[in-house]
Formats: sequence, structure tokens, C-alpha cells
Amino acid sequence: MSAGAEIDVEHMNRAVAAAARVRLATSPRPWVGAVVVSEDGAVFEGATDGQRGPHAEVMALRAAGPQRAKGATLYTTLSPCQMCAGTALLYGIPRVVIGENRTFEASEQWLRANGVDVVVLDLPECVDLMAEFIAAEPQLWNEDIGVEDAS
Ligand SMILES: [Zn+2]
Repeated sequence: MSAGAEIDVEHMNRAVAAAARVRLATSPRPWVGAVVVSEDGAVFEGATDGQRGPHAEVMALRAAGPQRAKGATLYTTLSPCQMCAGTALLYGIPRVVIGENRTFEASEQWLRANGVDVVVLDLPECVDLMAEFIAAEPQLWNEDIGVEDAS
């Protein structure tokens, strides 16, 4: 693994840890974690809390603020939805690193078309995070991605 890829995995682990911390604090289950790493190396976290709160990516971007987000890399355990991808573009994020996109993928082509460098790490721990959440909270998951609940 190259040094750059190792750094990406290290930051992604912070996003996984952010999701795990929210699990302990407010939610019975981990969901999505995200971090924004600014050009000067500052790290800003966000995590979706399983209580219909804002998405992890938006929380991390808002924590960073528009100035620090400019030129930063957004790390997210799950491929971003359209809302989070749009927020990343608004904040001038040039690079998005994604933990996994097997569970959900809606915005990667659009991000690339807008000049964003999109990297998918495809990490098993990120796949597991979502599989556990969806198995436990199928209704909340469907609601969150805008899919009609079949049950
Ligand atoms: Zn989102």
C-alpha cells in the first residue's frame, strides 16, 4: 500500500471511530461516520446518530466551516447521498474518500463530473458497519435514502 493510501485508511478509521462514539453516546447502533481533513491537517468529525439527525458528512463539513473545508478531503464511511455530495461541492471539497459503496451509491459520477477526485477504499469494516445498521433498522434506513418501506 502506498503512503497516500495508508493515510487515507488512517483517516477513514477516524470516521469509523466517530460512528462508534455516537453509538455509545446517543444511538443504539453505529451508522455513518465522516471526517474533514483540512489542508493544514486539522480534523473535523461528524456522525449520523440514528435519530433522524443530519448526515455525518454535512456535520463534519459544518464543523470545519467553509474556510477550512476549502481544499480539504472529505472521508466518509458510506458513499455520500446527493445532499451530502452537494454540500461537499458547495464547500469546495476537491477530494472525497469513500469507505464503501456496495450498500449505497448515488453521487459518485456526479461528483467526478464536477471535478472532484473520488476514491473508493472498499473496506470490509465499513461494509459491516452498514450491514449491521440496516439489519437492525431497515425502516430508518429506507426513510433516510428516500425509499418506500415495503413492510
Ligand atoms: Zn448524506
